[in-house]
Amino acid sequence: MKELTLAQIAEACGGTLIGGNEAKEYTVTGVEIDSRRVKAGDLFVAIPGEKVDGHKFIPDVLKKGAYALSQQSLDVDGAYILVEDTVTAMKRLARFYRSTLDIKVVGITGSVGKTSTKEMIASVLGTKFRVHKTQGNFNNGIGLPLTIFQIEKEHQVAVLEMGISEFGEMHELADMAQPDIMVITNIGLCHLENLKTRDGILKAKTESFAHLKPDGVVILNGDDDKLSTVEQVAGRKPVFYGIKGRNLCETSVCADAVTEHGLEGMTAEFHTPQGDMEVFIPIPGEHNVYNALAATCVAEQLGLSMDEIKCGIAAASTISGRTNLIHTKGMTVIDDCYNANPVSMKASLDVLSKAGGRKIAVLGDMGELGEDEKQLHYEVGTYAGTLPIDLLFCVGTLSGKLAEGAKKQNPALTVKHYATCEEMTGELLATVKEGDAVLVKASHFMEFPKVVAALTEA
Ligand code: ATP
Ligand code: MG
Repeated sequence: MKELTLAQIAEACGGTLIGGNEAKEYTVTGVEIDSRRVKAGDLFVAIPGEKVDGHKFIPDVLKKGAYALSQQSLDVDGAYILVEDTVTAMKRLARFYRSTLDIKVVGITGSVGKTSTKEMIASVLGTKFRVHKTQGNFNNGIGLPLTIFQIEKEHQVAVLEMGISEFGEMHELADMAQPDIMVITNIGLCHLENLKTRDGILKAKTESFAHLKPDGVVILNGDDDKLSTVEQVAGRKPVFYGIKGRNLCETSVCADAVTEHGLEGMTAEFHTPQGDMEVFIPIPGEHNVYNALAATCVAEQLGLSMDEIKCGIAAASTISGRTNLIHTKGMTVIDDCYNANPVSMKASLDVLSKAGGRKIAVLGDMGELGEDEKQLHYEVGTYAGTLPIDLLFCVGTLSGKLAEGAKKQNPALTVKHYATCEEMTGELLATVKEGDAVLVKASHFMEFPKVVAALTEA
């Protein structure tokens, strides 16, 4: 973080600086919400959590030589800023901090593929610029401001993931990020509990457009039936990308001749405003063609050459839990257990079906699907039944429907259903052998990283 003074911070977040020596200029060099990570010079934001109230740790952090942002009046030695609501104040501060930076901000949202697209964009832009990107999945109203505070003076581009589940949230996120470029990957079926319909999701995601920098650009998946209907943003046409033959509108960057090379990845021909190029995408799954297309559009906007774009795509990698291939004990584990919804579940099943050897899918419940949850699980099961998969292990209450759908579609497929992950893991370990490919996927709450750990443990 670029240094700010406590006085600047108090002003930016509408708070009052209390305590300390008035003549002294206190300099802040970082922002943290976890007191264990706080160092001297940091601003500790005390958040009243459900289980623990962060205010409890303020005396400790002040002793470390840090400062505090508090919504409670304190009787302490040391300087702190008193505000009405610490989370709101942190967001205001993030907005202020971003506005002091001379940097290009790329914001990414969408129902599925935000983290994967962020990694791809950062890999491509990294061939030319010093890039800061969201770490892991820090994409919400707490994670985004913390990510913004991590931007250093030397960074030239920040690639920021933005995730939402309610109306109004994107307004807040984009207001902090003030993107120069906004990418939307797709409009799927996540967070239906609050946003109700895909049109609701489209509306919520496009709240970001109001906060684009002047001359800001919107980059959208032109093969998505909802996104392709967006005609104008602030008087300009969006930039669209897609795969040839599926475009629902005119695209600026288009992929052709997509060829899958098993679990190694894919090659494709990309037609761009600069010319045509053959790209190698080192991550399997056709959705990664879309992520590479999005990255190409962003790179075109920021003036990268075709060589830089190709190198950046070829160097892209995944992070744990997202189509992460682990070679262990002669098997290939496709660790996709970070999260799941119907779109990403089907995409991962496609990846599994490209593997050589015996193909085993271990699938668990998908959360936050609203009232159609049973039907949506059934449909994923039906889809699995159409693919050349050898064994399907399902875990969880809703996954009973998934098992039913698969069995109905393909009575010859071996389908097993378990109530708990523990039960399933025992049988899975007794079943797997060298040469197998095993896909592990479920929503976060199913705690499937445990399954991956069991498969990969010595
Ligand atoms: P979250 O809302 O949890 O942050 P996310 O939008 O960041 O999710 P990722 O973590 O990138 O999504 O991807 C989740 C899974 O979805 C990946 O492991 C992969 O299987 C699949 N996926 C990645 N990119 C796409 C895409 N563009 N379209 C569809 N599926 C995708
Ligand atoms: Mg993510």
